[in-house]
Amino acid sequence: MKNIEEAVRTIMDFPKPGIAFKDISPLLSDPDCFHQVIGHFAKRHAGNRVNMVIGIEARGFVFASALAYALRAGTAMIRKPGKLPFSTYRQAYDLEYGTDSIEIHTDAFRPGQRILVFDDVLATGGTVAAAAHLIEENFNVEIVEFNFLMALDALNGQTRLDPRPVYSLLHY
Ligand code: AMP
Repeated sequence: MKNIEEAVRTIMDFPKPGIAFKDISPLLSDPDCFHQVIGHFAKRHAGNRVNMVIGIEARGFVFASALAYALRAGTAMIRKPGKLPFSTYRQAYDLEYGTDSIEIHTDAFRPGQRILVFDDVLATGGTVAAAAHLIEENFNVEIVEFNFLMALDALNGQTRLDPRPVYSLLHY
């Protein structure tokens, strides 16, 4: 996976001082890298009878939709408030300063479906923990795994999802 790791570009002090931003644009624009990443997750879940891959706004959508296509699953979106046109469930979560929310359509899943949740980066885990609550409190579905292209291990985001199954292709 070395070339995949090399295709992730680190931009210092974006979007604010002190943040080392992991930019996936070079990876997405490289056909072999993108194909390899989606192929890796498709192989991982080949026998898992996944019905839906849900992406977290916005970079999660890119991976979720490609993986859903590869698995012949459906895809859906978890978005920032006010973006989804149909009726929604909402989950608030704490930020460093203040709070934010995410939403999902009330008909995103059918009972009993098997779900993958996908985002590009697991950082503090605040966003994906809110996504987990949003799904678990409103739908009778099984989350097969929480998937990430990369985890920033120093931030311990995985503990926010304990004891749920989490898998990340890359670790920093
Ligand atoms: P989190 O802190 O895990 O709630 O991350 C919030 C969102 O910001 C997630 O969707 C991550 O993909 C994104 N994110 C957080 N930190 C970084 C980073 N260093 N580089 C790129 N994306 C990030």
